Amino acid sequence: MAIPTYEIYALKYAGPLTRPASMVNWLQDIDKNVQINYYIFAIRGGNETIVVDCGCAPKLAKERNLTNYINPVDALKRIDIDAAKVKYLAATHIHFDHISGVELFPKATIFLQEKEFNFWMKNPIAKRAPFLHVTDPVANRYLARLIGKKRLRLIRGDKKIFPGIELLLCPGHTVGLQTVAVNTVKGKAIVGSDAAHVFSSYRTDIPSAIITDMIAWMKSYDKIRAKASSIDLIFPGHDLALLDAYPQVAEGVSRLA
Ligand SMILES: [Zn+2]
Repeated sequence: MAIPTYEIYALKYAGPLTRPASMVNWLQDIDKNVQINYYIFAIRGGNETIVVDCGCAPKLAKERNLTNYINPVDALKRIDIDAAKVKYLAATHIHFDHISGVELFPKATIFLQEKEFNFWMKNPIAKRAPFLHVTDPVANRYLARLIGKKRLRLIRGDKKIFPGIELLLCPGHTVGLQTVAVNTVKGKAIVGSDAAHVFSSYRTDIPSAIITDMIAWMKSYDKIRAKASSIDLIFPGHDLALLDAYPQVAEGVSRLA
C-alpha cells in the first residue's frame, strides 16, 4: 500500500511577543529585539489527526503575560479539530509553552521521548532554576500521574508511529526533544518545534539561547537536514513566517505543507 501523505498546519496561540534577538539566535545581535509567535501544529491525512505540542494552559498564559493568547482548544476549533477528542498528541519537549496545555487533551495518547520524560520527572537537576523557569510544574504533575497508564507512550529514539510519520530524537534544546518527520506531497517535512526557534537556524547552525547540550544540538541539525527532502521543509517552533509566509486557512492558522 502506498504511504499516505499528510498536511501540516501551524496554529498560532499567542504573539507576536518581543524577545531579545540573542535569545532566538544565540549570542547574535545582542542589542536588538525580535518578535516571535507561539504555536501548536496539526498533522492531518491517512484518516488520522496528530496534534504536535499542547500550547500553554489559560492560567499559566495569564501568569506569563502571553500577548494575544487564545486557548489552544479554540485555535484547533478553527480547523474543526476537537481537542477533547484528539487521539494522538506528540509532545516535542517539556517546556511550558509546549506542554502546559496537556490537560486540554484528555483522551489523547501522548508520545514523549523517554529521556525527556525521565529528566523532568526524575532528575533533581530539573528542579534547579534554569530548568524550573522554562517548565510548568502543574503539567509535570499531570504527566507524573500518567506513569504506567496506556495513554502515555514513552519512546526510545526514532520511531515510526504511523505510515509516513516518524518521531526523531533530536536533543540539544532539551535532553530529549523530539521532532516529527512527515510524508507530504512536497516530500519529507520536519515539524521541528524548538530544535530551532526560527527558520534561519537550519542554515546558520545558530540555535536559540536555551541550550541543554550544544554538541548534541549540532548533531541533531545534521540529522534533521539529512532527513528532510529540502531545508525549506524544516519548520521551526516560533518564527512569525510560519504564519505570514504560508497560505492561511483560518484566522491564525496556516498550511505549511
Ligand atoms: Zn518554545
